[in-house]
Amino acid sequence: MTTPHKVIAIDGPAGSGKSTVARALAARMGFDYLDTGALYRAAALKLVSAGVSDDSDDDRLASVLRGTTIEFKSGVIYLDNKDVSEEIRTPEAGHFSSVFSARKPVRDFLLEIQRNVGGTNGSGGIVAEGRDMATVVFPDAWRKFYVTADEPTRAQRRYAQLRKKISDVTLLTAQLDVASRDERDTKRAIAPLTKAPGAIEIDTTNLSMEETLEKMMREL
Ligand code: C5P
Repeated sequence: MTTPHKVIAIDGPAGSGKSTVARALAARMGFDYLDTGALYRAAALKLVSAGVSDDSDDDRLASVLRGTTIEFKSGVIYLDNKDVSEEIRTPEAGHFSSVFSARKPVRDFLLEIQRNVGGTNGSGGIVAEGRDMATVVFPDAWRKFYVTADEPTRAQRRYAQLRKKISDVTLLTAQLDVASRDERDTKRAIAPLTKAPGAIEIDTTNLSMEETLEKMMREL
């Protein structure tokens, strides 16, 4: 597959800081920003609201997704033409996005959407962020980054994020969320999270967002 313009592909686990830095990098470069986790969250929202569960078969998932539209435009995520940018940020949506992202009909459905976003923007480039950007969706990306941080740091970041929405959330909840997502994202059979050959690894454990951004800029 060849990509018609510059793609900066960023992969990494939950809480690694990749979304924040991807957004900042896109702004700095004048590129579009593609948050693919938001697409998985929107798909999960649709599946859950249609009554699909973990043990539903692939045909059932595929038939619900067949009539679904998901778009990511200027930082806003639309599910069937409705803005769901807030709804996708709940812990429940996060949990189900991780569960359903292991399923082939979901990945196939979103692969096309991601590549189309990658081909239609007018800015000349995109910063695409997720778990399989450099390995599966944009294997010909102009630059590839793998952003990570140690597990306690990622859990602490997830905790800070969740606290903005849920006042009584505990650090333990965040630790369990990060650990279970790591387990599912790295062990699934299709498009598991892994560092792509040629990807530049950045450990953000002791780096601020600005320091991470500067490190990336030096690689471009
Ligand atoms: O990045 P975010 O936490 O919003 O992603 C939600 C979930 O979607 C992740 O836990 C992961 O399981 C899934 N995902 C994926 N592939 C991507 C992006 C996200 O499997 N490219």
